[in-house]
Amino acid sequence: MTTQKEMFGNLELDKKIVAALTDMGFEEPSPIQAATIPLVLEGNDVIGQAQTGTGKTAAFGIPLVQSITDFKHIQALVMTPTRELAIQVAEEIGKIGRTRRVRALPVYGGQPIERQIRALRNNVQIVIGTPGRLIDHINRGTIRLDHIKFLVLDEADEMLDMGFVDDIEEIMRSLPTERQTLLFSATMPRPILSLTKKYM
Ligand code: AMP
Repeated sequence: MTTQKEMFGNLELDKKIVAALTDMGFEEPSPIQAATIPLVLEGNDVIGQAQTGTGKTAAFGIPLVQSITDFKHIQALVMTPTRELAIQVAEEIGKIGRTRRVRALPVYGGQPIERQIRALRNNVQIVIGTPGRLIDHINRGTIRLDHIKFLVLDEADEMLDMGFVDDIEEIMRSLPTERQTLLFSATMPRPILSLTKKYM
């Protein structure tokens, strides 16, 4: 008996996305990608326990890109603990979304907010940001939440350690209730589990 190797082509992905993944040198999904992508595409909330280096960014980036429509509004929000991770995630989603022209923008503290506000006017569909700066934009009305269908918490335990839990809850409370929430964390301490119980 031969076992069929899991391939991106078997995951019911848009051919344009598979082409982008091939360009990136991705030949087959990592275990977390094979497990997560179908669940997200079916409309589920997902909790993933994953370290960096497992391919977790593409595990949420691929189904996000596939689910984003041409509609020029912010449709997904990704929260990360650091600006470095925000930039890295935005770059990876940008590559995955290149062939579908999905636009991803990182926003983080320490960069002039005016520059981010101008960039946000440019038909951005996925915003990746650190919690404090995201709240700043939400309060200014430069990030509108009404059309958000996906919230991703990346490295949730790190965000918790950095004291972002109130900011995260504030954002989760303000989002449309009709949405999917995806949470990735290397560890699952009690405050994270309570977030998942309350909002997922
Ligand atoms: P991450 O765990 O998301 O930080 O990803 C770790 C590294 O693996 C990144 O450089 C990704 O671009 C790369 N990567 C993710 N998924 C795959 C895949 N299916 N095949 C090859 N490389 C991958």
